[in-house]
Amino acid sequence: MLEAINIVSGYGSVNVLHGVDVTLSRDEVVAVVGANGAGKSTLARTLAGLLPLRSGQLRLADEEIGSKSSNARAKGGLIMVPEGRRLFAGLTVRENINLGRSAVGKRSSDPDPAEVLGDIFPIIREREHQRAGLLSGGEQQQVALARALAGRPRYLLLDEPSLGLSPTLTTQLFETIAKIRESLPVGILLIEQMVDRALALSDRAYVMERGRVVLSGTAADVAASSEVQRAYLGDV
Ligand code: ATP
Repeated sequence: MLEAINIVSGYGSVNVLHGVDVTLSRDEVVAVVGANGAGKSTLARTLAGLLPLRSGQLRLADEEIGSKSSNARAKGGLIMVPEGRRLFAGLTVRENINLGRSAVGKRSSDPDPAEVLGDIFPIIREREHQRAGLLSGGEQQQVALARALAGRPRYLLLDEPSLGLSPTLTTQLFETIAKIRESLPVGILLIEQMVDRALALSDRAYVMERGRVVLSGTAADVAASSEVQRAYLGDV
């Protein structure tokens, strides 16, 4: 289990997260939704170790990780796919995916990640030797997901994976996330602006406002709540 307890973090002299509690286990998809500026990306960066934890506790499988580097957290099984994908444009699809594996320390006995992930991401087989910079936005998102999964995370943090994708590619992305949850033992924290789609896919959800969790529960309960209906799902 990944557990954040009363975490505080921010930038410079400003705190953005004001005591956030979040849990994620390996067999669930959990959505984090909320308005722009609510602190969702800040939460992801703090969990991944890209922003220091100012107070509170962060545990990964009962081990305190709050002071560990992002690299150490990735090796421990906690991997984030940041907003905007950040592939190496000049490297091929396969090279990008191999980097995801070597970033967490490859062992010679490990299976080839491209083999393991090829069923989920057809792009790996179709475009293995193509440079990542030449792929479409949706294809790059697939490679970014595959690269993260090549590190065999136990917990995956996805920060706005649908950002910049067309409606069709967004549908494909959500189908891919559903496939990942069916075929790999990885817990997924899904930060998304596409609230209805994210809730439809998730088991549980947190709603954030101004650096706090203001509502949490099963995704169905959160989707049915009048606040979420009004603010995010277009009902009046
Ligand atoms: P969005 O969906 O727009 O990305 P978000 O919920 O992910 O929103 P954050 O990006 O976490 O929100 O931003 C929360 C607050 O932190 C905002 O007030 C934002 O201006 C501030 N913030 C974000 N990044 C930085 C930064 N690098 N330096 C200073 N302040 C920042």
